[in-house]
Amino acid sequence: MHRMTSTQARHTRRAVLQAAVEAGAACAQLGSLDPGEWFREDGEGIGVWRTRSRELLRVCKGCPVLNACQELALRDGDGDQSSDELVRGGMTGQQLARSRARQTKRLAAAVAADQDTEWRELVDLTVQLHREAIKNPDKAGGQRRQAMAQAAQNTRVRELAAQVRQIRSARRTRTGWGVAA
Ligand code: SF4
Repeated sequence: MHRMTSTQARHTRRAVLQAAVEAGAACAQLGSLDPGEWFREDGEGIGVWRTRSRELLRVCKGCPVLNACQELALRDGDGDQSSDELVRGGMTGQQLARSRARQTKRLAAAVAADQDTEWRELVDLTVQLHREAIKNPDKAGGQRRQAMAQAAQNTRVRELAAQVRQIRSARRTRTGWGVAA
C-alpha cells in the first residue's frame, strides 16, 4: 500500500481542510444565513454586532468541521487585532489574530506548503490546458459526432483556462499585484 510521506501530507493539507469545510460547514447548511452575515455590516452598531456574533459563534460551536475551518481561517490571515468585524471557525476576528500571533512560525510553514501545492496545481493545469488546446479532434464517426467532440473539447479548454485564471489571480492578489496584473 502506498503511504504518503509527511512532506506530501503537509502539501495536501489545505485541500483536505477545504474539502472537509465544503462538505460539512454548518453555516452553509443554514439556509437563513448567507456568507455576508458572518461579517459586521457597514454602520452596524457594536452592540447589535456583538449580539449577532454571539449567535454565529454558537453555530460554529456545533459545527462538525470547526477545527478545519479555524485552521483555514488562520492560514488565510483572517481577522485583525484592532477591529471586531467577523466570525469564522468559532472565533471572532480579534481572537483569530491573537491565535495567529501565538503560532506565527507554524503558520508560516503551513502557508508556504499551501502555496507550493498551489504552484504545482497551476503547472499541472497549464500543461493539461496546452495538451487539450492542441489536441486534434477525432475525425471518425461522421459530422455530428465530430461536432460533439469539438464542443466537448472547447468546453474542457474553457474550464481549464478558468481554473488557471482563478489560481493566477489569487496568487497575484496575495503578492500585491492586483487581479488584472
Ligand atoms: S466553524 Fe463556523 S464559520 Fe466555520 S464552517 Fe463551521 S459554522 Fe461555518
